[in-house]
Amino acid sequence: MSNIEQTLSIIKPDAVERNLDNKIKSIFIQEGFKILKEKKIKLEKEDAEKFYKVHETKPFYNDLCEYLSSGPVVAMILEKEDAILSNRKIMGATDPKKADEGTIRKKFGISIDRNSVHGSDSIDNAKVEINFFFRD
Ligand code: GDP
Repeated sequence: MSNIEQTLSIIKPDAVERNLDNKIKSIFIQEGFKILKEKKIKLEKEDAEKFYKVHETKPFYNDLCEYLSSGPVVAMILEKEDAILSNRKIMGATDPKKADEGTIRKKFGISIDRNSVHGSDSIDNAKVEINFFFRD
């Protein structure tokens, strides 16, 4: 049985700043994802705080929110069979140093806090995150 899912992907400021957005989008397309919607926006810090609310008790929360709102990001709704897991695999581990060869974070990530992409980690979070960026 097919299991078509939608997930939210963000090309983060470090990657947009280096003009890697088209390269990263072409990786998703090559991997069979459809980009259903996309928008380039600059978040306010309060938006980033809302987006990363699950991390509000972490020591890196403030830096994380400063960073996500430091420059434009490209948010996309990606669709594919098992999109959530598939995107997580293509992204690679959170820390680019630990990411597998060939993954986006291994190729383009600078550090654990400048790791080029975000991807939803569950069906429930994908719904919330898609709604966060594309509610209109
Ligand atoms: P992800 O789902 O792989 O993006 O990882 P998480 O949801 O656990 O964390 C969200 C984001 O917070 C990551 O993409 C990192 O940019 C950042 N982050 C996670 N863990 C750490 C950490 O230990 N130190 C710092 N500085 N940033 C972190």
